[in-house]
Amino acid sequence: MALVSGPGRAGGTLTDSDLHTSKHVTYIKNLDTVHELEYWLTEHLRLNGVYWGLTALYILGHPDTLPRDQTIDFVLSCQSDNGGFGAAPGHDSHMLYTVSAVQILITIDAVDELDKRGRGGKEKVGSFIANLQNADGSFMGDQWGETDTRFLYGALNALSLLRLMDLVDVPKAVSHIQSCENLDGAYGIRPGAESHAGQVFTCVGALAIAGRLDLVNKDRLGAWLSERQIESGGFNGRPEKLADACYSWWVGSSLAMIDRLHWIDGEKLAAFVLQCQDPDAGGFADRPGNMVDVYHTHFSLAGLSLLKFDGLEEIDAV
Ligand SMILES: [Zn+2]
Repeated sequence: MALVSGPGRAGGTLTDSDLHTSKHVTYIKNLDTVHELEYWLTEHLRLNGVYWGLTALYILGHPDTLPRDQTIDFVLSCQSDNGGFGAAPGHDSHMLYTVSAVQILITIDAVDELDKRGRGGKEKVGSFIANLQNADGSFMGDQWGETDTRFLYGALNALSLLRLMDLVDVPKAVSHIQSCENLDGAYGIRPGAESHAGQVFTCVGALAIAGRLDLVNKDRLGAWLSERQIESGGFNGRPEKLADACYSWWVGSSLAMIDRLHWIDGEKLAAFVLQCQDPDAGGFADRPGNMVDVYHTHFSLAGLSLLKFDGLEEIDAV
């Protein structure tokens, strides 16, 4: 599945309050076949693309659209001897793809396949992840050493899904997250870095998994997150930026985790997200008028699901 833009363009209008479900299902189903050239050019994102497409189909209530066996075969073909997963067959293992692989296998109830025909069972996958934890509790994405709160969240997410949390030092991970908290109550990519809604999601999500949401300054963070909603109804990722449909998930789920989702105008947000869909060819874009892609399709639908939009399956905010 490719992570290319198009073919459609978000053509929604202010009066368009319908979700074009069958168009979105067709859009995702055809991602594999429509753009062969771009498909190969975006190989480096392929495993993530499968995860986004698959989850979007589950939210849309069409979980069986992608063939299960082929999905399992593709996921396992991305695994390396070290237990981790790369973006596509033959690519180096990385935390983010390993997390996507685990999420896909859990979603389609196929973790057992790791033992049967993978390059090591779930313990091997867990130890690949655990070996990326640093002494200060943070996590690297791969052996090259870059750290980012996204990797910490991904590690705890995958390990909790595999029930292997005891492989890592959770208290140290928690104290690393606390060191990334800023005076505005929000979080950055590492200590001292600017607050960003994407990082807020990863930090609050990791604290939720660790059972330590008590450490969050919920009112202060809730206020910062609520200010992300701008005139159009959409959310931006940080002050002074344009609204983007994917932040309906990053901001919305963070608010849901700290019980402050009612602090924003859900109807205005849903109206903005619906303007980001292509009513003819399916898919969602980052904002009205732009090209659609599978990443924004997934996060737009996840955001609408959070708002309990009619006809969508409910999603877990963590
Ligand atoms: Zn976006």
